[in-house]
Amino acid sequence: MQGFIIKVNRFKDEDLIVTIITQQNLQTLYRFYGARHGVINLGFKIDFETQMGLNTTIARLRDVIHLAYPWIMDRVRLSIWQQFVALFYPHLKDSQEIGSFYFELLDSAASSWHQQNPKRIAIESYIKILKHEGRLHEDFICLYCEKKIENEVSLLRAFLPSHPTCSHRLSISSRTLRKLYDDESTLFMSDIDVDTLWHVLIEGL
Ligand SMILES: [Zn+2]
Repeated sequence: MQGFIIKVNRFKDEDLIVTIITQQNLQTLYRFYGARHGVINLGFKIDFETQMGLNTTIARLRDVIHLAYPWIMDRVRLSIWQQFVALFYPHLKDSQEIGSFYFELLDSAASSWHQQNPKRIAIESYIKILKHEGRLHEDFICLYCEKKIENEVSLLRAFLPSHPTCSHRLSISSRTLRKLYDDESTLFMSDIDVDTLWHVLIEGL
């Protein structure tokens, strides 16, 4: 089975509890300490087996192989990847049957993570998530005053729209945002706009 590690918790000094987005579901597994085990790290794509232990409710993680991407040695790219992937745990932790959507999304993002500014890929992926979950607010109605937003939109966590004068946050033109939502592409966006959206994104999915 393959999956992306979205959470690593230390347990009893050297053991780990690991949460993984797989092709079918979300799995939380136990890994006993052992010097011969491969490295486990947040964001890694791994191939693995599971084994149900006696007297435990949590299966064991076994036979881990790290399916490394070439950009894993690039510290900046890895750091942005880990910030992005870490957002999935609080978002999905109470679900189990999540289907293949999140795995395929991460798989596709990871495959192109080296090709451009990875924050752009994260934002494009997030638009796909919001659409998949039916949470994309395309109507640009201000969360605070409930009036229409004409020109500049200030996005709040989960990309909820507001007037810059209502929320006092950095804004982005509504035309740019509309194009992002329609095309799921940041190609036409400035790096400043990308940074603005990235900072909203990392507040939480
Ligand atoms: Zn308003």
